Amino acid sequence: QISELKQIAPFTFEIKQGSTRGMAVPARFFASPLLLDMVVREAQASGGGGGGGFTASLQQLANVATLPGIVGASIGMPDLHSGYGFAIGNVCAVDMEGGSGVVSPGGVGFDINCGVRLLRSSLSIEDLFPVRDKLADALFKAVPVGVGSEGSLRLGAADMDKLLTGGMAWLEEKGMCWPEDREVTEEHGCFPGADASKVSPRAKARGAAQCGTLGSGNHYVEVQVVDEVFDAEAASVMGLGKKGTVCIMIHSGSRGLGHQVCTDYLSAADRAMAKAGLRLVDRQLAAAPLSSSEGRDYLAAMAAAANFAFANRSLMAAQVRGAFQEVFKSSPAKLGLHQVYDVSHNIAKKELHTLPDGSQRQLLVHRKGATRAFPPGHAELPAAYRGIGQPVLIGGSMGTASYVMTGTQGAMQRSFGSTCHGAGRALSRSAAMRGLDSKQVLSQLSQQGIALRIATKKLAAEEAPASYKDVSQVIDTCHAVGISKKCVRLRPVIVVKG
Ligand code: 5GP
Ligand code: MN
Ligand code: MN
Repeated sequence: QISELKQIAPFTFEIKQGSTRGMAVPARFFASPLLLDMVVREAQASGGGGGGGFTASLQQLANVATLPGIVGASIGMPDLHSGYGFAIGNVCAVDMEGGSGVVSPGGVGFDINCGVRLLRSSLSIEDLFPVRDKLADALFKAVPVGVGSEGSLRLGAADMDKLLTGGMAWLEEKGMCWPEDREVTEEHGCFPGADASKVSPRAKARGAAQCGTLGSGNHYVEVQVVDEVFDAEAASVMGLGKKGTVCIMIHSGSRGLGHQVCTDYLSAADRAMAKAGLRLVDRQLAAAPLSSSEGRDYLAAMAAAANFAFANRSLMAAQVRGAFQEVFKSSPAKLGLHQVYDVSHNIAKKELHTLPDGSQRQLLVHRKGATRAFPPGHAELPAAYRGIGQPVLIGGSMGTASYVMTGTQGAMQRSFGSTCHGAGRALSRSAAMRGLDSKQVLSQLSQQGIALRIATKKLAAEEAPASYKDVSQVIDTCHAVGISKKCVRLRPVIVVKG
């Protein structure tokens, strides 16, 4: 029902309140003409409509607008595509003060605190070129990849609880990450309110050998070079101001532990809803009142899983530093392997926001496949980035560019301080496997000069560049709408995948 879509500002569309029964607020999303066309058709991505006449992701955007306590609008990012209950690329802010608000585990996602960490270096592309394949091999050896892979750290019960409570603070005590890393990590690498006792034994068991492992699918460790600089000032503050600078992007989350926490609390949310007599338009939206024990327990378990994810990315950063040391025969400090930033894109956070009427409100901002994008001057930012805004780290695909952006005041006004998180899928996994040939994908990448090390070669099609939308469309849309500012484009040289 394209007739139900109204353009309300440049690149900004609205699904009006009432398009789906029970919408408490409208739904809005940002898209360029090309991305609009993709999301409106979404033929291959979802394989079906959403019941209300919209495609699946737009229907999911409208469904989220029915959640009790939602404020402003259900907001879709330009990389929107359908997911479990919520679309991926959906931001939903819920009032924490009014008493009716809810938290939805599906609004955070199964991979709690999936996110991106970026390291920079003092190396340039000329240093990298002669050892490219050696470095690719060293990274593939250093970082455990694949579905069931295990790391070298085995977490006993006591250490697991300390890690879940302390996140990177605990790792730092153990000497497993650099003290400076925490300074440039969202929440300093330790989410407040984490309670390890709210994480089930099953979830802990699944995570016990998985800290410091990549996982599979779209998780990656990528060596990239600065390909283009759009904002010289911000780029130089981040140490990315020079074209050809080598950096490393790490994308992973909370592995089996976070997945199990989500599964456990989807059931708990179902029970809480039954108790509260709450009915929602889609069962997958399952949400627990913030005032319920299930709601509070989920937030405490989610924070613990988020800490696990921070630790996971930290251990992989250590593996990456080790691989560089081995290949370049120089210490990571001498190689300048500093962390630029680490930011989550699957999380729900308690934040203070100013509403259109000028009032300030404590909100629970669900960001599922969306990145926080706080503006210059925001108190949450590390001192180094106060002047330029929060770094926003965006992956593209294994064969295309990735980007660094910065947060803006526009994001505070239009998207509760949020922006995109990637290119977003253009084809579902099954459609990609049907339509693309993995062998061809691999040879194409090698022709492009990208050294790929992938555990499951036959699944390369799933992750083919053609399975994703055009990341530059997504970035340019965010930039044009003003929810984040384009800073640097990165080009992949080595890709390590599961
Ligand atoms: P998600 O968090 O939804 O699992 O994935 C985030 C984004 O990562 C995807 O939308 C996609 O644009 C990007 N991505 C997936 N695989 C790769 C890869 O191998 N390299 C890079 N740079 N980005 C990727
Ligand atoms: Mn993930
Ligand atoms: Mn992710």
